[in-house]
Amino acid sequence: MVSASLMWVGSASDAGGTRPSYYYPYHEKFTPSEKVEKVVNWLKLPEDRRPHFISLYFPEVDGSGHHFGPDTKETEVAVHLIDQAIGDLVKKVNDLGLKNVNFVFVSDHGMIKVDGGTPLEIPALLFDKNRFDFYNSQTLLRVYVKNPDEVKAVYKELKAHKTGDYDVYLDKKLPKYLHFATRDDQYNRIGQILLLPKAPKIFLEKGKKTSVGKHGYNPRTVPEMKATFYAWGPEFKNNVKIDEFANVNVYPLVAEVLGLKIDQPIDGKLNVLEKILKDKK
Ligand SMILES: [Zn+2]
Repeated sequence: MVSASLMWVGSASDAGGTRPSYYYPYHEKFTPSEKVEKVVNWLKLPEDRRPHFISLYFPEVDGSGHHFGPDTKETEVAVHLIDQAIGDLVKKVNDLGLKNVNFVFVSDHGMIKVDGGTPLEIPALLFDKNRFDFYNSQTLLRVYVKNPDEVKAVYKELKAHKTGDYDVYLDKKLPKYLHFATRDDQYNRIGQILLLPKAPKIFLEKGKKTSVGKHGYNPRTVPEMKATFYAWGPEFKNNVKIDEFANVNVYPLVAEVLGLKIDQPIDGKLNVLEKILKDKK
């Protein structure tokens, strides 16, 4: 199927050897209205060259949320900017008179203002480069223990000396619903020990600065992490509100709308969202 991707998701990525028919490597130079224009131009192409699946991303709300914080005038302005862009997109697409255009609007996370003033210290022992590598995304600290025989002892030591502002987990002991354990980690990206700050606390290296807003906390314990979902168009029922669901279920929904068969294992399930489709119960 002819497809196009405008910066999202992983627009220039070679996913299993396949790229979108039209795409841009990720950058943030296009304004929202320039992106709307590009989508409309793609839809004006003759049918054999016209993408039947288009994805596009607006980074402005995430950017303002990080820089100024989520509950600020600046982020409100960014939300209005994107709301306006989506409104323009829908109007311009409708004006093309194409049949059966459906829209799915998602975000991939929320945001909270973090405690950058009194951040958590990274446990001193982890700076021993001979024994550890650690990766600090501030809302999560991942530890690779170089000698696998040491994992348990290190875990116990970290746990014994921790403060009440974070939790220490062996990756295999993380709650299953987080899907963040060795069994989900075919590329060895997680590490064996995980330090999870309690929101709004973050880990921060000395002398480093953080942004005002952050994401990456567990959405079950920090509901502000939850995302947005809207879908509309001829394939979708009108004015239906549904319970929250995991974002992995959007993929089989989109495939169903496009009439595509999924022939490889995926994490999502169609039955989670198919009830919003018109021809389904
Ligand atoms: Zn972000």
